[in-house]
Amino acid sequence: MLALKILIVEDDNVSALLLKKALEKNHHEILGIAATGEEALDLMDEQQVDLVMMDINLGGQLDGIKTTEIINEKYDIPVVYLTASSDEETLQKIAGTNPSAYVIKPFNIRELNMMIELAIFKDKKEKELQKLNNELEEKVRKRTADLNEANKELKKALEKEREIGELKSRIVQNVSHGFKTPLTSILSSAQLLQIYAEKGHPMKQKLVKHSRKIENSVRSLNSLLTSVLFFGKADANKIDYKPSRFFSAAFFNEVLDVVKANNDNNVTISTHFNNVPKTIKSDTELLYQVFENLLSNAVKYSKENGHVNFSVEVADEIMKATIEDDGIGIPAKEQSQLFDRFFRAKNVGITEGSGLGLSIVKKCVEVLKGEIHVSSEAGKGSVFIVNIPIG
Ligand code: ADP
Repeated sequence: MLALKILIVEDDNVSALLLKKALEKNHHEILGIAATGEEALDLMDEQQVDLVMMDINLGGQLDGIKTTEIINEKYDIPVVYLTASSDEETLQKIAGTNPSAYVIKPFNIRELNMMIELAIFKDKKEKELQKLNNELEEKVRKRTADLNEANKELKKALEKEREIGELKSRIVQNVSHGFKTPLTSILSSAQLLQIYAEKGHPMKQKLVKHSRKIENSVRSLNSLLTSVLFFGKADANKIDYKPSRFFSAAFFNEVLDVVKANNDNNVTISTHFNNVPKTIKSDTELLYQVFENLLSNAVKYSKENGHVNFSVEVADEIMKATIEDDGIGIPAKEQSQLFDRFFRAKNVGITEGSGLGLSIVKKCVEVLKGEIHVSSEAGKGSVFIVNIPIG
C-alpha cells in the first residue's frame, strides 16, 4: 500500500493520537493534527496533503462538513470522514459533500486501511473519469465547431446556387424579351422585301431600308448573344487576360464602324486621338467590349442629332479614354446601380436594351486592371472615363 501524507482534523486529542498511531503503523506520514476547520485549512495552505481524515463534529465556526466543502472547492484531495454516529441524518449530510469514504468510530485498523484504500481508489477513478470527460467534451466541442463550419459552407454554396439560379432565369427572361423585337423586325422586313421583289417595283430605297433593318436586327441579336455568352464565362470565372499586340487605328475603326451602323438618332461622333501609339499591347476582346458598349450607349441614349465626343490619349503606359454625350443622362438617384446586371434607368423610355452592357464593361475593366469613372446629369448628358494600363 502507498505511503500517504495525511492531515488529521479531529478536536478530540485522544482520538486524534490513536488515529495517528494507527496510520503511522501503516507507514503513512502524518503532516499535522488540526483541532478546528480553520486550523486545517491553514495547514493545507502550507503543505502538500494526499488525504484528509476529517471528524464531522468539530469545535469552532466550521464543522467537518463545511470544512470539507471548502477543501473540495480549493483542492482536489480525497477526504475520509470520521463519525461517531451512522444515523440517517448524518449520512445524508455526509453524502452531500461527496466524501471519498467514511469511517465510523470506534474503528479497527483493518477497517481504517480499507477505507483509506477505497478513498484513494475512488479518487483515482474520479480523476480518470474527469479526464475522459474533459477529452470527450473537447472532442464534442471540436466536432460541433467542424459541423458549424461545414454548415456555413453548405449555406454559402446553397446561397450561391440560388443566386445563379435566379440569374439564369433573369437571363432567360431578358434574352427571350430581347430576341422578340429584332425577330419581329427581321420577319416583317423579310416579308416586305419578298413583296417588293415579287411585284418587281423599282423600290430600291425600300429594299435598302429593310435590308438595313434586317442587318441591324441581326447585329442586335448577335450582341445580345455575346453578352449572354460573356456572362456564362464571367460566372465560371473564365475571363482571362489574353494580351496581344494590335494596330490601334484598325481596332478603333472597327469599333466605330459597328457603333455607327447602329446609329439611328443621326448622332455625330467626333474622335480625338492624342499620343496613341501605332500598336498597343492589351486584350483586344476585352477592350472591344469596353469601347463598343460605352460608345453604343452614348449614341443610343443621345437625343436626335446629338453629339458624342470620343477621345483617347496615352501617357505613361496608361490609355485614358473619354466618352462624352449630351443625351438623356442618368438620374442621380439611380447612378449607384449603374453597373449592376440588368439595371436600366427609369428615363430610358422606349430605347431598347438588356441592362447587361455596363456590367460587362465593369468586369472587363477589372480584368484589364483599369478604372472607370462616370459623371452624369439627367437631361444634360454623361461622361464615362476609363483608364487602362497598356503595354
Ligand atoms: P442597356 O442595354 O440598357 O443599355 P447598359 O448596362 O449598357 O444596358 O446600361 C445600363 C443603363 O445605364 C441603361 O439602361 C441606361 O439607363 C443607363 N446608361 C448607360 N449609359 C448611358 C448613357 N450614356 N446615357 C444615359 N444613360 C445611360
